[in-house]
Amino acid sequence: MMLLEQQLVERFVSFAMKYGDFEIEDTIYLQNRLLAILNADGLEHTTEIPIDFKNNPTPNDITQYWIQQGIKHNVIEDTLYNKEIIEAQILDLITPRPSAINRQFFDAYNQSADKATDYFYEISKLNHYVKEDAIANNINYEVTTEYGNIEVTINLSKPEKDAKQIALAKEAKSSEYPQCALCIENEGYKGSVLQAARTNHRIIRITLDNEPFGFQYSPYAYFQEHSIVLSEKHEPMKINKQTFINLLAFIDQFPHYFIGSNADIPLVGGSILSHNHYQTGKHIFPMDNAIEIDDFKIQQFPSVNASILKWPMSVIRLKGSNKDDIVEAATFVMDRWNHYSDESVQIKAFSDDGERHHTITPIARYRNNLYELDVVLRDNQTSDEYPDGIFHPHQDVQHIKKENIGLIEVMGTAILPGRLKQEIQDVKNYLLGKQAVELGVHQHWADEMLEKYTVNKTNVDEIVDNEVGYKFKRVLEDAGVFKQSEEGQNAFKRFILTLEKN
Ligand SMILES: [Zn+2]
Repeated sequence: MMLLEQQLVERFVSFAMKYGDFEIEDTIYLQNRLLAILNADGLEHTTEIPIDFKNNPTPNDITQYWIQQGIKHNVIEDTLYNKEIIEAQILDLITPRPSAINRQFFDAYNQSADKATDYFYEISKLNHYVKEDAIANNINYEVTTEYGNIEVTINLSKPEKDAKQIALAKEAKSSEYPQCALCIENEGYKGSVLQAARTNHRIIRITLDNEPFGFQYSPYAYFQEHSIVLSEKHEPMKINKQTFINLLAFIDQFPHYFIGSNADIPLVGGSILSHNHYQTGKHIFPMDNAIEIDDFKIQQFPSVNASILKWPMSVIRLKGSNKDDIVEAATFVMDRWNHYSDESVQIKAFSDDGERHHTITPIARYRNNLYELDVVLRDNQTSDEYPDGIFHPHQDVQHIKKENIGLIEVMGTAILPGRLKQEIQDVKNYLLGKQAVELGVHQHWADEMLEKYTVNKTNVDEIVDNEVGYKFKRVLEDAGVFKQSEEGQNAFKRFILTLEKN
């Protein structure tokens, strides 16, 4: 039998009244909701409160304590997905319902856009939809390169699924509802062994060029205020003129955020191609600060300043104060690229059977009173030499990163798998001669470092951490369609010529 400490219930109810939709008359109702969700039998008044109120426990602190108690008393099944469902149900009680949160968001927006996002972000952290504590486990650092500083993140935020859950998931029947993890029908959804717990999930309704979209934060953020804008309809990713219109419409409404989209064909973008969405947030990425070289003009858009960036990927930056001209210029560049081939540097827009290989990764921001739209050129061909992709991390750097190079990486932030934490430690130990560990895929790299550096205890961290960054730089160079060589840059200029003289 499990009882909830009355003092904790009172504290939680006060949170629900302060942040959620509830008032004093709802006290008993809330108490009973908590008992039901936690499968508990009643309340007890104890002299010893398990959580120190002086430490200002958060609603999530109390929630996690109760879940642990439930497991101890065998009234809650100890699987990750089940704990997440219960957590989301409890923290839903301190979250305003969708209509209320939308009303308060737009009340704040009437003062300023950043007041509105601040309001929503605070609630999203408080109700543990944004998992700040888990995100804090990530390893983050910067590495200086000839392109400027690049960022490395080793992603340790996502909790591991236990064996029991993996077994249950194998047995489970997949549901068609919600259609995908981004669908708007996830708002308030209970979740299951196959689908994320979303009872405490809220979506702000926004409009981009008269079309309805949702705005939400990302639970496992990769950067400050990492958020997602998703189409209200479950429809595939599509990069076209409307994409540029939508990105700039968002920037008009939220000029303190950047916004970008993953590509719309396999191998060169994100993992979800089935639901049209963009990623946004407050972060300034390494690519934002890349030096602009080779300015040029596109004849029919004299108001737009175009330039090539000094960046391992091939980027054209368009800048100007006239939004329509930026949209038209970006559409023009994209259309040209989507039909552009230069077989001297292996660039080919279509296969012989007509399959499209070209697309772009677009990123928009508002800076110094100008719209900026970065158009990153992409090509997803494969070859016998590069079966994973010609413009994809090549074999010799895949021990650091083998996944698709999506929007966030394009901008110079490496999101690396959590396994690397231990593997990099092994490499460091090997370099110090501490142990004869099996380094596997990292062996060659480690031996190269031994040759290149005199490694000791004081410099080993810096050497290896920097070398991880240099590998990521190589990853981006692999993904760049016009290489950094003279041949590659000349080929880039030939493409620019087709934009200038048209
Ligand atoms: Zn969907």
